[in-house]
Amino acid sequence: MSALTCKEVILDYLADYLEKALSPEVIADLERHLAGCAACLAYLNTYKKTRDLTRQAMPQAMPDEMKAHLRRLLLRHLAEEQP
Ligand SMILES: [Zn+2]
Repeated sequence: MSALTCKEVILDYLADYLEKALSPEVIADLERHLAGCAACLAYLNTYKKTRDLTRQAMPQAMPDEMKAHLRRLLLRHLAEEQP
């Protein structure tokens, strides 16, 4: 399997990764990417923290609105670093 891009990691896999809904192969690819990518790792940590805070406030999953907001933030960040 080819290496993942940041956008694939963020948009396609990160939420499922945190919900442990990915196959072991995809998890391995994802973790390989995270090990070498500070931007995605920072995003993962922010995402986790936000999710945990959200869960303390209300037991449901993170609202879609919050996910969309986090994605927009990161995509803007990526766009700045990789024109
Ligand atoms: Zn990345």
